[in-house]
Amino acid sequence: MAKEDFYKLLGVDRNASDAEIKKSYRSKAMKHHPDRNKDNPVEAEAKFKQIKEAYEVLSDPKKRSAYDQFGHAGIDPSMGGGRSSGFGGAESFSDIFGDIFGGGRQQQRSNVQRGSDLRYNLELTLEEAVFGTDAKIRVPVLVACGECSGSGAKKGSSPVICSTCHGHGQVRMQQGFFSVQQTCPTCRGTGKQIKDPCGACYGQGRVQENKTLSAKIPAGVDTGDRIRLAGEGEAGEFGGPAGDLYVQVQVKDHQIFTRDGANLYCEVPISFPTACLGGELEVPTLNGKVLLKIPAETQTGKLFRLRGKGVKPVRGGPVGDLLCKVQVETPVHLTKEQKALVEQLSESLSGGGKHHSPQESSWTDGVKSFFDKLTG
Ligand SMILES: [Zn+2]
Ligand SMILES: [Zn+2]
Repeated sequence: MAKEDFYKLLGVDRNASDAEIKKSYRSKAMKHHPDRNKDNPVEAEAKFKQIKEAYEVLSDPKKRSAYDQFGHAGIDPSMGGGRSSGFGGAESFSDIFGDIFGGGRQQQRSNVQRGSDLRYNLELTLEEAVFGTDAKIRVPVLVACGECSGSGAKKGSSPVICSTCHGHGQVRMQQGFFSVQQTCPTCRGTGKQIKDPCGACYGQGRVQENKTLSAKIPAGVDTGDRIRLAGEGEAGEFGGPAGDLYVQVQVKDHQIFTRDGANLYCEVPISFPTACLGGELEVPTLNGKVLLKIPAETQTGKLFRLRGKGVKPVRGGPVGDLLCKVQVETPVHLTKEQKALVEQLSESLSGGGKHHSPQESSWTDGVKSFFDKLTG
């Protein structure tokens, strides 16, 4: 918005004396004072402010000379904080932004502030995660000072209303032509002053303490789950409400099982004879051992599903399964005799015209067709 000429506003000419300017300002200010213009207060106030601003510049010899040289740019606070020597740096710029935004946000700041939320990383074994547990958590937190009940004032005394801001927490300061709302420097926005600080918390109202908490971890939690302990976070400043504590679950790797949601996986080694002839095998579950039937001619890598031996999810839903993947083991440390037996078996398998190796025959077929394609 283009500003009106200050001399015009005050109705004086450019070489008017200080006395003339003052006289004219008084009569104009009287005329446009909002109290005298009740039928049109908004417009009157705007006009009144303009006149006031014009007078503030023209009644100050330095500002007036800057205005005469550079016009509004010479005294525009954003162009140098009203200094006649031209253009200001970053400092005056930030002042102006502070003014603008400060003026826009006039809502009263709350005097008490809620404490911060805290996060605690909790490592659980797979069993603890699956069955639930009572976890003891030791956290360093700021708690309300017991000595002064969080007020920060010495026992027997209490904080008094801040004498600078009269309890508002904000003060208005005149900066250049702007009236600036600022956090009260005396009480830092709390609106209260502590004359006699508590010795235990040095007037902070909070002290650092190691708190041991008991957190009930429900059955079925998994890595990434969060449990909220309401009000167990940091105490608020000066008796404000406490934040929450979030327990972040991390499940440790298990020696045998890996978990995928509700299902558990494990690898089970089986002997070559068991794989050939079939048999029964003891396999571990989280609830103890169970017997797993291995059918004859089981191939390595086959998955066996034990229904309902997985995890009951914490958010409900069906209990998962335990999936056992068998690994056929090649016998090692063979004696001469055993080697002879294996050779005998080998000869027997290669005679008789039957396919005894299901993977191998399909694999050789694949290799053959691959080479046929290359040569054909
Ligand atoms: Zn205290
Ligand atoms: Zn204050």
